[in-house]
Amino acid sequence: MENAAIAAQLDAFAALLELNGASFYTSRAYRRAAELIRDTPAPVAELVREGRVRELRGIGPSIEARLRELVETGELAELRELEESLMPELVGLGQLIGVGPKRMRELAQALGVRTTEEFRAAVAEGRLRSVPGVGPKTEAKLKAGLERSSKPRPRRGLTLNRAWALAGGVADALDGEVAGDPRRWRDSSEDIAVVVAAEDPAPVLEQFEALTEIVSVVEREERRAIGVTVEGVPVELVVPEPSSFGTALVRATGAVPYVSALEPLALGASEDAVYEALGVPWCPPELRERASRDEPPRFLLRADDVRGDLHVHTTWSDGKASVLEMGEAAIALGYEYLAICDHTVNVRVVPGLDADAVRRQGEEIAEANERLAPFRTLRGIECDILADGTLDLPDDVLAELDWVQLSLHAGQRQAGPELTRKVTEAMRHPAVRCLSHPTGRLINHRPPNALDLERAFEVAVEEGVAIEVNGLPDRLDLRDEHVREAIEAGVQICVNTDAHSVRGLANMRLAVATARRGAAQVADVLNTKPLEQVLELRRR
Ligand SMILES: [Zn+2]
Ligand SMILES: [Zn+2]
Repeated sequence: MENAAIAAQLDAFAALLELNGASFYTSRAYRRAAELIRDTPAPVAELVREGRVRELRGIGPSIEARLRELVETGELAELRELEESLMPELVGLGQLIGVGPKRMRELAQALGVRTTEEFRAAVAEGRLRSVPGVGPKTEAKLKAGLERSSKPRPRRGLTLNRAWALAGGVADALDGEVAGDPRRWRDSSEDIAVVVAAEDPAPVLEQFEALTEIVSVVEREERRAIGVTVEGVPVELVVPEPSSFGTALVRATGAVPYVSALEPLALGASEDAVYEALGVPWCPPELRERASRDEPPRFLLRADDVRGDLHVHTTWSDGKASVLEMGEAAIALGYEYLAICDHTVNVRVVPGLDADAVRRQGEEIAEANERLAPFRTLRGIECDILADGTLDLPDDVLAELDWVQLSLHAGQRQAGPELTRKVTEAMRHPAVRCLSHPTGRLINHRPPNALDLERAFEVAVEEGVAIEVNGLPDRLDLRDEHVREAIEAGVQICVNTDAHSVRGLANMRLAVATARRGAAQVADVLNTKPLEQVLELRRR
């Protein structure tokens, strides 16, 4: 059993546990285990057989027992039982058309149906009206929902990590390519697609329908299908002939305005062939948003241009790894430097560092540097802006540090003028090097604050302060269009992960992709430069 298949089973199990009313923490433990297994290079099935799987961080005894069952029997008995009782197929369909899981099961029981097809047939026959509590209005709503399912959208977009786990898992299982919003690294994915080349599409479609993550197929054509996850997230599968794979990939990648500007597309087996036939330079998917046939920026940022990460946490605040462990992981990623930026005390919801702790941490960082030289861990801080606009550490402590990330955590709802005044004044503090997650948004949870970004960019340029593109999947802040505006204003940006664990360092690809969506070139990004130049910032 391959890692991706094991991870898919755990994800499906987590979704069903959640559906069954299990605690958030229980289902999250399985989701995290799935993520971990997906990212583990070694074959996890072998680790399980050798009794070594708990060497992976985050795998405890109960998950180990599940993994053992999965590896030995090929399935999870409890998953099967939950499937029997919870009817995930109909629940997934229900979530897609706006009916909650409990109500959908009630409807299914009253109609005596168990599958998407049976449900559709019952609705078409007008049998819904015989169900107690279903009036003409509800019937009309469900019918409309079923009709719309030929081009469905999830109720809310998926963050990039979840979109890639889902689409990447499907693509791996079918030997295809991820397309749609995740391939363009859109911050929130609504349109998730996978493209698989095959002369004969039937076996691919069957394999797709049999995937653990796809609970229901709501649309099936000869070379296309739409499947739904138990959460009601639609995944489109496109199965072109190999000779037109490139064409199908361009089309499924989108976005619609971009593809429309290229139409009519030439037929080609690869994207290169399609672009060549069109006489248009190949365009990185991140930049396929608006109508354009232009040459992409020559030195568009790439992941391997990044020389260091300037915002990470450790066990000194709410991180999971030590300074040394984070440093070693950064070296393994090929970095030259890493700024340790734990929280200050004002953040409150998690432990923060006071002046004394910052100095003690400095000793640990110095020791790490002795062991890791010539690699450099920087003494940094993620310093809160206090309610009165001052910083959460004394000036003499701030002056000792190599790298100060300025962060607003509380008070995101303040009115624009006051918020902007507070943040920009704090940016003028001589110790500050970079403004973290400027708009404070949390995708699907919190809208952006009222900070006047134009003003913040002006002050950043005046003061020589950098501005962060935060790579946490629910932040991605600055977002793409703001990256573009910042660069046009002459701001230096930093692509940072805000990692709270060794694995969190991998979110650099999200920060880089977001910067690319804003057309950031290597010279626009501070942490593509050697450390001496990074530290020259504000010392002009
Ligand atoms: Zn923060
Ligand atoms: Zn942080």
